[in-house]
Amino acid sequence: MSQTVRTRFAPSPTGFMHIGNLRTGLYAYLFARHSGGKFILRIEDTDRERTVEGAEEMVYRTLAAAGLDYDEGPDRDGGVGPYIQSKRADIYKKYAEELVERGGAYYCFCTKERLESLGDGKVHTYDRKCRDIPLAEAKARAAAGEKFVIRQKVPFGVVSSYTDMVYGDISVSTDDIEDGILLKSDGMPTYNFANVVDDHLMGITHVIRGAEYLSSTPKYNLIYDAFGWERPNYMHLPAIMKDATRKLSKRYGDANFEDFVAKGFLPQAIVNYVALLGWCPKSGAEKMTMDEMIAEFTPDGVSVSSSIFDEAKMRWLNGEYLKAMTEEEFLAVAEPYIRRGVRAEKYDIREIARLMQTRADVLGDIPEKIAFLDSFGEYDLGMYEHKKMKVDLEVAKKAVKVSISALEPLSDWTEEGIRAAITAAAEQAGMKSGQVMFAMRVALTGQPSTPGGAMEMAVVLGKEESMKRLAFSEGLLLGEERA
Ligand code: GLU
Repeated sequence: MSQTVRTRFAPSPTGFMHIGNLRTGLYAYLFARHSGGKFILRIEDTDRERTVEGAEEMVYRTLAAAGLDYDEGPDRDGGVGPYIQSKRADIYKKYAEELVERGGAYYCFCTKERLESLGDGKVHTYDRKCRDIPLAEAKARAAAGEKFVIRQKVPFGVVSSYTDMVYGDISVSTDDIEDGILLKSDGMPTYNFANVVDDHLMGITHVIRGAEYLSSTPKYNLIYDAFGWERPNYMHLPAIMKDATRKLSKRYGDANFEDFVAKGFLPQAIVNYVALLGWCPKSGAEKMTMDEMIAEFTPDGVSVSSSIFDEAKMRWLNGEYLKAMTEEEFLAVAEPYIRRGVRAEKYDIREIARLMQTRADVLGDIPEKIAFLDSFGEYDLGMYEHKKMKVDLEVAKKAVKVSISALEPLSDWTEEGIRAAITAAAEQAGMKSGQVMFAMRVALTGQPSTPGGAMEMAVVLGKEESMKRLAFSEGLLLGEERA
């Protein structure tokens, strides 16, 4: 029987969740679901100094918003917890001691001063001074209260290799590996130790994480070997770049999931976009539901080359999601943004939503796009001049007059109703309907460009407001004549 796949997402609560972290979690989720396996959340908070207040809560919020539903985690017990590293100190201590017994690690009593002197203040490699202290002596010194760390006992002259599911064969000579610290003097593990112990005890079969761990993995494998544990499979993921040379990074505040949501991106569109940063489904599809991604996600579609985070592309995809919604769905997500843009009580929110659904790629664009609705007043009459359509002030005056008389008696205040009335009136007046509509749009909005044509503007404004504006504009045009 083949083993049940278990993957994990292991964020450190050291800041917000950037797009790169999210992608790592997403791939671990997709792979687990695709394989009918389990997806586990583990919080890696052993670096207390870098732990940021509130960052853990943000992990839960982000995973929930992104739809990455984990089977086990701090709030979902699966029997191999705790799922928060700071609550596992006893476990690491026990296993560090066991590793010492097995000859895979040793007590080191070197002081900070000694270590600093090794490197002349520069980065140094530990000289392994304590490596050969007899175990009984080391234990006695530790028991007597001497301060110690536990270091990995890296074997000499061995090549440690593994096959990564994305990068292929990776080999590192153990001569290039330092006897790094596994357990710090405060009893807390380093990442180097905790990731191994946890992945083993949590039964992780596939470790999916960023490529920055690719070359440290041989070192971790030596720990698995020293314990006599089975190594997991590894899938390392190439970095996501901000541009040709710089990685996205949470330290520099790049590309935070929640910021994008606040800007009006839909979580599912962000997730969909992020999935494609480094993975190409065989179908070549771009817009995909989570279920489609799960069905198609296989490691051979994951690329070794890094991809550039392209916000414009994500905007486009988000726009596709908005267009695909039902009117009701769109109204529900757009309404807060519409209310932010205009004094909503004056308008039919539904009409504004209808107008915006095909015109905003991101919900956050809406307020600016509809601001013209509230800002109507004196405007530059030069806007009526349109050479190609052969509109000048004279034509505009006539056109606005024609619109007023066509619309005043109109009760069917819909795009179709208005279009029919204007077309008929233009014909009667011997004008092109395009000319009338152009002038009417300027007269209704006082804006050089608007998110929709004359009919749409009239519908959004409603009849009463439209008639008021047309009258005001006619006055402006006639005033010009008198001046
Ligand atoms: N806590 C590590 C990080 O945030 C996780 C690395 C891993 O997945 O093993 O980068």
